[in-house]
Amino acid sequence: SKNQTLRLNDGHSIPQLGFGVWQVEEDTAEDVVGKALQVGYRHIDTAKVYGNEEGVGRAIAKSGIPREEIFVTTKLWNEDQGHDSALEAIDKSLERLGLDYVDLYLIHWSQPEKGKYRETWEAFQKIRESGKARSIGVSNFTEKALQDVVATGVVPAVHQIELHPSFNQQHMREIDASHGIVTEAWSPLGQGKEELQDETIAEIARAHGVSPAQVIIAWHLAIGNVVFPKSVTPERIQENWDAQDLTLSPEEIERINGLSRDDGRIGPDPADFND
Ligand code: NAD
Repeated sequence: SKNQTLRLNDGHSIPQLGFGVWQVEEDTAEDVVGKALQVGYRHIDTAKVYGNEEGVGRAIAKSGIPREEIFVTTKLWNEDQGHDSALEAIDKSLERLGLDYVDLYLIHWSQPEKGKYRETWEAFQKIRESGKARSIGVSNFTEKALQDVVATGVVPAVHQIELHPSFNQQHMREIDASHGIVTEAWSPLGQGKEELQDETIAEIARAHGVSPAQVIIAWHLAIGNVVFPKSVTPERIQENWDAQDLTLSPEEIERINGLSRDDGRIGPDPADFND
């Protein structure tokens, strides 16, 4: 069924399938987010560092869809970690988006060696209390960094991590779940590379008469992830949305679970990403 939502640990709801805009230029972002909203998506995942918050905001404004029907996430970039700089960063993101609040604000990377994520998380609690973000969460946190913020007593609503069939993060998903944290999958299609060529995925796709991308998205939804595939191609934006109609069998889900590899990461390891 379309537009299913998950309940967050702070009582808010999040649409499980969204639309991501990393590596989408400002003007293109306005067009493709407008297209995604027309298709039915009600959840947009952006970040300060993507450089397209203004385009995303223009698309939302032009859509005519009531603000409260759209779930908007943005993220605090690494250079803005710290208490005061975080309080400034949210104001600037809201200004670029042209919004009074975001639905979800994330610390983009834990940056463990910098050691600023705790004070940043304290500022995030104030940002939530001020109403500038309805929910707050983290992205790319090491296990230790996640335990440290959980220990503050304010548990992140979500943890956004690299997650796709060849790197399915079973361990981190279990840790997230043990704290009532929803896991969000970034690069859910493995950035459209080997993942979409995988023979097991292709076989399952043929059996259902659907595309490999749709099989992978349906798998994410089935295992409880929030997911926001990116595309700038109108047909694929629609195709990815339609993946919500696909139900995989327990056996198919198990086969896809079996594709994960220890060396399956395509992005940086959060422990080593400190610049
Ligand atoms: P993705 O896994 O969503 O792959 C996108 C690529 O897959 C497209 O560019 C295209 O080449 C291909 N593709 C998309 N739909 C397709 C289809 N139906 N058929 C065939 N090919 C298709 O990659 P992504 O953009 O890296 O990840 C999605 C979103 O996750 C990003 O846009 C961003 O919002 C978020 N993200 C967050 C972080 C983080 O650090 N928090 C990092 C990376 C991405």
